Amino acid sequence: MTATAARRVSRQVSIGPVKVGGNAPVMVQSMTNTDTADVAGTAQQVFDLAKAGSEVVRVTVNTVEAAAAVPHIRDLLDRRGCNVPLVGDFHFNGHRLLAEHPACAEALAKYRINPGNVGRGARRDEQFATMIETACRYRKPVRIGVNWGSLDQELLARLMDDNARLAQPLAPDAVMREALVVSALESAAKAEDLGLPGDAIVLSCKVSGVQDLIAVYRDIARRCDYPLHLGLTEAGMGSKGIVASSAAMGVLLQEGIGDTIRVSLTPEPNGDRTREVVVAQELLQTMGLRSFAPLVISCPGCGRTTSTYFQELAARIQSYLREQMPLWRGRYPGVEDMHVAVMGCVVNGPGESRQAHIGISLPGSGERPVAPVYVNGTHAVTLKGDRIAEEFQAVVERYVEDNFGRQAATAE
Ligand code: SF4
Repeated sequence: MTATAARRVSRQVSIGPVKVGGNAPVMVQSMTNTDTADVAGTAQQVFDLAKAGSEVVRVTVNTVEAAAAVPHIRDLLDRRGCNVPLVGDFHFNGHRLLAEHPACAEALAKYRINPGNVGRGARRDEQFATMIETACRYRKPVRIGVNWGSLDQELLARLMDDNARLAQPLAPDAVMREALVVSALESAAKAEDLGLPGDAIVLSCKVSGVQDLIAVYRDIARRCDYPLHLGLTEAGMGSKGIVASSAAMGVLLQEGIGDTIRVSLTPEPNGDRTREVVVAQELLQTMGLRSFAPLVISCPGCGRTTSTYFQELAARIQSYLREQMPLWRGRYPGVEDMHVAVMGCVVNGPGESRQAHIGISLPGSGERPVAPVYVNGTHAVTLKGDRIAEEFQAVVERYVEDNFGRQAATAE
């Protein structure tokens, strides 16, 4: 049960086999940062992102070489049994690339079009129309993705002029926010006029400020029923990016706004791109909106935990549970709802352990060197010695097999 507001009612869009909006759960997506022309490297990163749980993966399609690579990337993924839908991200030359590379247009499951980067003046309309007509021909949905950093300047100038004529003009930042929303809505209306069905359109209006994102999405959510792709653009690196994305998207998701999310983290040098997927999943799971992997509840530790053993066990169990998920997902339905507590001492350890499906309290400093384990709220065993970690992992494995394996067997 969640205490979030009812989900905003939207149309449902199909991206290959994946549904967005309507009654579909909030979908997690991500984007590669490889050179798309590098077929093997991009296919590997898409594979890794999909394995981490990204339900749709976007690749940039910025050059002739990238467009030519897309069908080969699709082919490699299919041969590895990975059917994650690929989305093509187009700017400036998308009309040409889509027209000249039909195999690319066919292999992609959705096109992302940024109305601010389609062209200027009359060419803008013509190039936008070419892309929409391609989407219609190949029966592909489109995300009209407006971005603060590449807002349609002609539209902004028009709205600024209109605003200046008002008796009580709005502040410039309010006009900017209105321009984002109007750009998305007018482009969607144009796309529908060109023949794209309304249930083949997803909208986004990304900005980099938390309060701006909340204001813009509250507004657009009231003004249309297209599914909304949420994301704070240029969220930043590390904890800053995670906190800013979670704060902004958390508020909106709590209000029932948002049908798919992406956490746009700047990776650390040589960092793991899949981190953005894990963060997106954890955001949805900690809000009670979806379950992806068993949750580990662990205390922060304090002066009563004098060794790093407790942190190591918490980290080990967390990665073990996440690594098992590709296998467990099919074999043990419901296991993603399991809660495992790893606590640092007996102050809160047994209490928290009883609330979880399985919990362990490691000995704090000055306590007897034993670790009581609780299963379904009852003291099950006390572990001691050098193999507490291995034995606790074995308890978790048995619990999963006994509880979720049986469910699977009954359902068969
Ligand atoms: S459970 Fe024990 S070790 Fe963990 S924070 Fe509380 S007092 Fe400290």
